[in-house]
Amino acid sequence: MITEAPRPDLIRLSFDDGNASDCDIALSRLLGQGMTADFFPLSGRIDHEGSLTAEQIQTLAAAGMGIGSHGVAHRDWRRLPRQELREELIRSRAELEAVCGMPVTEAAIPFGSYNGRVLRALRRAGYRVAYSSDRGRMNPGAFLRPRSSVRGDMQDKDFADLLRGELRLARRLRRGLGMTLRQVPGLR
Ligand SMILES: [Zn+2]
Repeated sequence: MITEAPRPDLIRLSFDDGNASDCDIALSRLLGQGMTADFFPLSGRIDHEGSLTAEQIQTLAAAGMGIGSHGVAHRDWRRLPRQELREELIRSRAELEAVCGMPVTEAAIPFGSYNGRVLRALRRAGYRVAYSSDRGRMNPGAFLRPRSSVRGDMQDKDFADLLRGELRLARRLRRGLGMTLRQVPGLR
């Protein structure tokens, strides 16, 4: 049970992959709580069954939700040759901008899988923010921002810790080291 209410102004929710439930379920709940969130649809799945339609993405944007890129086809950006990586970053953004009619400047990295080359490619392509899956608190001014996943099978205590942004010291150190090492050329 969550005994201490988290500060909603310190929590930012995001939804990856562009599932139809983003609009069918999440949107009305967010609006009901007076919250906004960021959505990162895969541009290659727009209008596919089970995924958001272009019209639904417009609805999300019109409701004040952020729209960002998660790439075209949910590929591991670390493993893509330079040209294909560029294509994932630039085409997905162009397709989303064409749908929602506003600039797309943020990206959520598929699988949270990045290295220094991926981050450089994101910056070169003009992105201003990249979300990973490194867990824990984010620095709202940073280019690379960690996120924590929420799963249906989580225990209440883990969820409460997550809402408070608390990571145990050992895990926090491991995360900081991991985020640094992932950006060192040649290590991954
Ligand atoms: Zn994803």
